[in-house]
Amino acid sequence: MSIEKNLKKIKSSLPGHVTLVAVSKTKPESDIQEAYDAGQRILGENRVQEMVEKWEHLPKDIQWHMIGHVQRNKVKHMIDFVDFIHGVDSFRLLKEINKRAKKADRKVDCLLQMHIAEEDTKFGLDTKELHEIVTSEAFQKFKNVRVKGLMGMATFTDDENQVRREFKQLKSHFDRLKKQLPEIDTLSMGMSGDYKIAIEEGSTMVRIGSSIFGARK
Ligand SMILES: *Cc1c(COP(=O)(O)O)cnc(C)c1O
Repeated sequence: MSIEKNLKKIKSSLPGHVTLVAVSKTKPESDIQEAYDAGQRILGENRVQEMVEKWEHLPKDIQWHMIGHVQRNKVKHMIDFVDFIHGVDSFRLLKEINKRAKKADRKVDCLLQMHIAEEDTKFGLDTKELHEIVTSEAFQKFKNVRVKGLMGMATFTDDENQVRREFKQLKSHFDRLKKQLPEIDTLSMGMSGDYKIAIEEGSTMVRIGSSIFGARK
């Protein structure tokens, strides 16, 4: 199937309150242009350098979401254009984004990434670390980042119950955080293999790559 057809099919299956991030990592710019021509404006990448190169060559009204792990020394390379950073998993990274965004006279939307997978290979904050960040005095003073909510990745497994359990856990973190930060409205969870479960469990933003652009090498 074509990228356009895949996009249409997925979009028609998403409830109106769920935002689609089309994950184009490793894919050529021609594929992104095809998605763009089909109306997609939100694209996700997981490597800063790759995203910068694509940003340079592609239409400037694309909203670029950084969905991968970010090293602090890479923030400066994307700060002029990045729209949304999903994988904020430390106070120091958030501080760096705020500092760079201030210099660039921008405000950047961010999500705090939680560790929800029962497997221990994925990045993310635990409950205590999340609490420490959002209650810190410095956090209240960050003027150039807007924390919009949480992001998480479930274990890569066929066990639906496990995936659902992990998403439920992330949703409960979100609900608790919303009592402290009523302005948050984004829960980024769900990929090609598990986005339907994620939506049932309260996702408002899904990150879908291979079901749109085909399998990656
Ligand atoms: C690659 C990636 C996705 C998309 O994965 P697919 O299975 O291809 O849909 C989503 N989120 C993150 C963080 C990724 O790195």
